[in-house]
Amino acid sequence: MLNSTESKNTKKIFEWGTSYPYNRFADYQKKIYGERVQKVTVDAGFTCPNRDGSVAKGGCVYCNNESFNPGYNSASKTILRQIDEGIEFLKRRYKNVRKFIVYFQPYSNTYAPLETLKSLYEQALSHPEVVGLTIGTRPDCVDEAKIAYLQELAKTYDITIEYGLESISDDTLRRINRGHDVQCYLNALDLTKNRGIKICTHIIFGFPWEDRTLWLKTADWLSDKPFDFLKIHQLHVVKGTAMEIAYKKNPFPLPEPEEYIDLIIRFLERLDPRIVIQRLFGEAPPRTLVAPHWGMRHTELVRLLEKEMERRETWQGKYYR
Ligand code: SF4
Repeated sequence: MLNSTESKNTKKIFEWGTSYPYNRFADYQKKIYGERVQKVTVDAGFTCPNRDGSVAKGGCVYCNNESFNPGYNSASKTILRQIDEGIEFLKRRYKNVRKFIVYFQPYSNTYAPLETLKSLYEQALSHPEVVGLTIGTRPDCVDEAKIAYLQELAKTYDITIEYGLESISDDTLRRINRGHDVQCYLNALDLTKNRGIKICTHIIFGFPWEDRTLWLKTADWLSDKPFDFLKIHQLHVVKGTAMEIAYKKNPFPLPEPEEYIDLIIRFLERLDPRIVIQRLFGEAPPRTLVAPHWGMRHTELVRLLEKEMERRETWQGKYYR
């Protein structure tokens, strides 16, 4: 069981050093930098082997990259211009933020020749307020040369590679037309671990043929894998996807917020407390969202989750073995 102590205000202080019931990324960043560090997203104009026919065509059945690309991003602008505009926007929103990590987010951001990657990443790192990169990609889009290059960068900068796994079930990966299997993710972890590069894993909960048993088993399965950060989001059916067509033809149940929060709490209780949580809820712009309509912003969902964890007197890793 996790070591915890009572603080003066009777709140438990967990082994990650705060009274929050799970190991939050914001606290992790503060410990490293002593201040808030904000991600600034860029669209570097990549595509994806699951769309251009190299692996498959049509992409993952739920994927519409428009649903997570902020307004200031456009591949028609240079990387530095997107960073400047993003930083300007974020500084208006969060006062006093001075350090930024450039997030290469849409599509597969290692899917290009190494020389192209070097040029794009180094443009981003040349910005005086940028301290590192987070690179979102597929586990089948890395190789030894690319990882060796990132290892070199990681000696000077804060480098994270984010692998989309989405489910620990090969059956699900087939059904969502993911174009890789679970073993491919494990191979990417093996290639990347112990090289100074931080690793984030991305998971989705809510595929209608999966169930709670599998999602809770996911916590046990992930706990012994060599990665640092975890992002989870609830399944969104968004416009312009194969899933939208399937949903409209035959609407399937999607979790309600209370159900999802309960699932996340039980998941966190089983998860290794060393894993830092970057995200537990997704948000899709209303113009692209078909379902579910929870009518709550991300911050409100996080507040409800934390309140409920406090009420249940529970925390990440409570039942981790
Ligand atoms: S979710 Fe990622 S891997 Fe799947 S089609 Fe979209 S960009 Fe490609």
